[in-house]
Amino acid sequence: MIIYSKQIKPTTHDIMQYYSLNKQTPKVGFHEATIKGQAPDKGLYFPEKIPQLNKKLIDHIGQYSKEELGYLVMQPYVGDSIDEANLRRIVAETISFEFPLVPVTENISSLELFHGPTLAFKDVGARFMSRCLGYFSQQEKSGKVTVLVATSGDTGGAVANGFLGVEGVEVVILYPSGKVSPVQELQLTTCGQNITALEINGSFDDCQAMVKDAFMDADLAKKLLLTSANSINVARWLPQQLYYFFAFQQWRNKQQPPVIAVPSGNFGNICAGLLANVSGLPVRHFIAACNINDAVPEYLRSGNYAAKKATPTISNAMDVGSPSNFVRVMKLFADDYHAVTEKISGYTVTDDVTRQTMQDVYQQSAYLLDPHGAVAYYALNDYLQHHPGQSGFILETAHPVKFPDTVEAVTGKSVAIPEAAQALFHKKKESIQMNAGFAELKEWLLNKPF
Ligand SMILES: *Cc1c(COP(=O)(O)O)cnc(C)c1O
Repeated sequence: MIIYSKQIKPTTHDIMQYYSLNKQTPKVGFHEATIKGQAPDKGLYFPEKIPQLNKKLIDHIGQYSKEELGYLVMQPYVGDSIDEANLRRIVAETISFEFPLVPVTENISSLELFHGPTLAFKDVGARFMSRCLGYFSQQEKSGKVTVLVATSGDTGGAVANGFLGVEGVEVVILYPSGKVSPVQELQLTTCGQNITALEINGSFDDCQAMVKDAFMDADLAKKLLLTSANSINVARWLPQQLYYFFAFQQWRNKQQPPVIAVPSGNFGNICAGLLANVSGLPVRHFIAACNINDAVPEYLRSGNYAAKKATPTISNAMDVGSPSNFVRVMKLFADDYHAVTEKISGYTVTDDVTRQTMQDVYQQSAYLLDPHGAVAYYALNDYLQHHPGQSGFILETAHPVKFPDTVEAVTGKSVAIPEAAQALFHKKKESIQMNAGFAELKEWLLNKPF
C-alpha cells in the first residue's frame, strides 16, 4: 500500500539512503546507519527522501491490523536491509502489547504508551532496535557489537530489557547518579548477563557527551564496534512513528485530526510524530511540552536557539539541556522558523504546575497521570482553551508507578505496583561508579571486562 515519492527509484541498491546532517560523510543504508548509530562526522543520520503513504491506507486505516500497519510504515525505511519475513517478525515482536487511546475529558484523551515490559514508551524503539541488531549480527558474524547508551531515566531500562540475552551484543548504560527514580534505576542495574550499568557522577547531558566522545575516539574505534541506542540511532527513532498511526486508528472523528501533545526531552518522540505527519498521517498541530529544560520552546518563542545546562525536575526523563533531535526537527521543516512555528507550539511547565495538574486531573477525571504526561496534559489543555472546537490527546509516556514519590505526594494514595515492576524490588542493584568526563570511560572501555 505504500508508494514512494516520485523522485525515488526503488531499485534494490538505492532503496532508502541515510545521509549525515553534517554532510561530511557518505550516505549509508539502514543496516549501516543502525550499526554506526551516528555518522563518522558526528552528524545524525536522516532519510534522504521521506516515503509518502498511499492515501487509501490512511482512509481505511481502521481496517489494518497493527502488525500489518507497522510493517507497511517501517518497510520503506528498512529497504532491503531486512527480508520481509524477518521484518514482519521484528515489527510484530516490537508492538506485542496494547496502545490504548483512553478518553480523559470530552476533548482530551491519553495515548497510553506504558503497557510494554519496562512501563514506558521507549520499549518500542528499544525492542525494534535490539531485534534489528540481533538480526544483523547473525547475518554477518561481524563480531561483537557494543551498544553504548546514555539514559535520563527510561531509556536504560527499555534498552536493558530489549537487549538482554541478545547474542553478539554487549550493552553499556550510562546514567546520572541520584537523578533517576528507584524503579528506573532497578530496571537498568539488575539485569546482569550482557548488560552493564555505569553510574555517572554528573547529569544526563554529561552522560550524553561521554557517549558522543566515545564514538569519535580513534583508539576505541580500533578495538570496539560501537553503536548507540539513543534516539540518535535511526532504528530506535523511526519505529516511534508507529504509535501515532495506532492512535489515529482509534481516533473517532477522522475528519478533524487531533492536536497531539508530546512530553519532550531529547525530541526523538515528537520528531517521529512529525515524520509520520510529513509522510501523510493527519495531525492538526503538535505541542512540544517541556519542563523548565525548555531550549526548544524558547526557540519557538524567540527564534533563537541556545542549548542550556540541564536542571533536575520531577519529570526527569525530560531533563535535557541540549536535545539531540532538534536538528532533525528543523530538517523536516527545511530549517524554516515560520514553518516550524505553524506546526509546533512550545510550552514550559514548572514542577509546581505539573503537580497541580496531576492533582486536578485525578480529582476531576479520576485519571492518574505520571509527571511527564502531566506536563503534556497541562500544555494541551491550555492550548485547547485558546483553540475552541479542537480536540486532541497527550502521549502518556510512562506508568505513574515509575514515579511513586511524586504520585503519592500529589494524590495522597500509594500507587499499586504492577507485576512487571514488583519483582525488581527483590533484585540487587549492580553498577560501576564513574566520574563525568571521557577519560575514565575510555580507560574502562579499552580494558573492558567483557
Ligand atoms: C524519554 C522520555 C521522554 C522524552 O522523550 P524524547 O524522545 O527524549 O523527547 C518523555 N517521557 C518519558 C517518560 C521518557 O522516558
